[in-house]
Amino acid sequence: MRSLTSLVEDDDTRFGELEPILRRLPSYKKLSDSMSLEWPVNNKLWGLPGVKSMLVDLELGHEAVVRLCRFGYLGRQGGLPVGKRLRFVATSEAFCKPLRRFQQCTCAEHAPLNAVDWSSTGFYNAELSGALNRASKACASAAVSA
Ligand SMILES: [Zn+2]
Repeated sequence: MRSLTSLVEDDDTRFGELEPILRRLPSYKKLSDSMSLEWPVNNKLWGLPGVKSMLVDLELGHEAVVRLCRFGYLGRQGGLPVGKRLRFVATSEAFCKPLRRFQQCTCAEHAPLNAVDWSSTGFYNAELSGALNRASKACASAAVSA
């Protein structure tokens, strides 16, 4: 059972779960021209030394933060917009640049934490998928013209 009082222990556990995926990233990088990775802004994984050094090693030096409210995510039962932010890091500036226009919002209020179905925010909806698709295309055409 996970300790709810020790964030460090919880982070270590989560890093442990992700480690097999993270270990495969260098091989993915060899297979493609570019690569990106995304977690919520507030995910403590970003701050772990092992993760930080891996981002440097994989040259994931470009960043964009997007707000889910910009893609129409709403709290339960059509509630207020969801204020959760996702941080993308990528090897390509061309991928990040179009995403940055989703960093700011004009919402007067976001859904309270207890009014959000967090499992649904773990999936890309059609709007976010579309934005990521456009960013990937921008990245691909930048790679071709480089
Ligand atoms: Zn908003």
